[in-house]
Amino acid sequence: MDCLFCKIRDAEIPATIVHEDADCLAFEDINAKAPTHILVIPRKHIASTLEIAEEDEALVGHLHRVAADLARERGIADDGFRTVMNCGAESGQTVFHIHLHLLGGRPMTWPPG
Ligand code: AMP
Ligand code: ZN
Repeated sequence: MDCLFCKIRDAEIPATIVHEDADCLAFEDINAKAPTHILVIPRKHIASTLEIAEEDEALVGHLHRVAADLARERGIADDGFRTVMNCGAESGQTVFHIHLHLLGGRPMTWPPG
């Protein structure tokens, strides 16, 4: 399978990894849209939100807990931050291996564009 984030998981493509555990990893987004912009991905290849199975519920919750820990580590937890998972073409999803964007370190506008 030709998946960019599986290749990062397998260290075939370099990334600045900021967290790793048995179920997920997190790395710096290569095109950061905020002072903190980290992607949290499951090790398991899941193509999009639409492919999340019942057995993946705890895994997806884990991605959020890791994002919260990283937000605390980066000192952006108190001011606030955004976690986003795009799904499909109109959302702007470009990599079809689910990833939770952790964005923070600046005020965010709502709604996103
Ligand atoms: P999305 O548009 O939600 O699918 O997000 C994909 C994200 O992956 C974008 O924010 C990209 O900047 C980021 N990205 C693409 N290639 C890489 C890479 N090699 N390393 C780190 N982040 C990447
Ligand atoms: Zn993948």
